[in-house]
Amino acid sequence: MFRSFVALGFTIGLLAMPGAAVTVDNAFNIYTGTGTGSCASRLSTLTNLWKDTNTLVAGLATAYKTAVGTEATEDRVVAQKLFTAWMGVQFDNSGDAPAPIGEWSGTYMAAFKENFDVLEQFVASGEYPSWKTPPKLFCDNFGDWFDWTDQALDASGKPVELNGVALTIEDMFEQVREQDGYDAHRPYWVSDLGVYVFPRPTSTGDLCGQSSGSKTLQGVSIPGYWQGYYQATVNGETETIEYDDLADIVLLCPDSFDSKVPWQYETLADLSKLSIGEKVPLYDVMPRSSTLFHELWHLMTFWMGKIYDEPITGRLTDHKYLVQDCIVLAAGWYSNMHPIQNVENYVYLAITWWFWVEKRVAFYDGRPRAWNWDSEEEDY
Ligand SMILES: [Zn+2]
Repeated sequence: MFRSFVALGFTIGLLAMPGAAVTVDNAFNIYTGTGTGSCASRLSTLTNLWKDTNTLVAGLATAYKTAVGTEATEDRVVAQKLFTAWMGVQFDNSGDAPAPIGEWSGTYMAAFKENFDVLEQFVASGEYPSWKTPPKLFCDNFGDWFDWTDQALDASGKPVELNGVALTIEDMFEQVREQDGYDAHRPYWVSDLGVYVFPRPTSTGDLCGQSSGSKTLQGVSIPGYWQGYYQATVNGETETIEYDDLADIVLLCPDSFDSKVPWQYETLADLSKLSIGEKVPLYDVMPRSSTLFHELWHLMTFWMGKIYDEPITGRLTDHKYLVQDCIVLAAGWYSNMHPIQNVENYVYLAITWWFWVEKRVAFYDGRPRAWNWDSEEEDY
């Protein structure tokens, strides 16, 4: 008796305009309203964070070009070793040009390039593969947690009824809920916008609260959804309830702006001098701007190909966060996880290349090393 459909609209982003970098408020639809989640007081900080995003993206383009370049320079040694450390890519330099060697190197390098190209295009033009752009940006928990079985609200906040029957959220958004991997997602109602969003909640329900590991969440990215409708026929009478599409969302939590824990520095420019051999772990010198950079990799890959059933391509995830865990992941210790799927491996690659370019230290193992450092000689 009840049937529901979805109108599948999917548009690949328009052509990028090379060189025309966009500002953060062009790249995002930044929520500056009076409700919770507002970024009104964060606009200048967001500009600083976006500047770092641009720097890291430009650096990654150089790192990639250098690693596969034909010139056997010091820079190439570092670029290749960093791709090995964070992406698990090994190179053979005996031919005319470097070639990836080993079981996964070629696949990893290609997947890296595919994902990176999308991020680079977004930073240059604001376009990325989604059906609705720009993505929304919030700066605090913006919604109220509901159960799937609670009664659905319409855009004006009134309960939805169809032929006198109350509609639940899971009735109305059946297509959203049925997506792969959505078992753990929950509806949140954003009263200021009159929309539902469907993130994976933290254990407390507060999107910027403590996660299961008792760490306060720094940020989260939430896939949007396409427009759809729910249709029901009762006693021969058919009625349709429609809902609008929603752009993807990035949420940067207050902690990622204000807290000195885990990271003391806001931007790359704030980082102090570093010397080779210093006992400074990479994790301690990460800038807070890396949270936005981290979320962008999620955002850019939300709608790229498959989701969970294919090991390499598609939506990136968070297997590991800590430096040593990400190194171990890149070293191929987990048969069921790939570094190329893990967002923080991309972040460490970009940050460590920046440290090489700006500070001439190479964080191959998460400590500041010389370009020609050999792990075999290290006395742990
Ligand atoms: Zn993440």
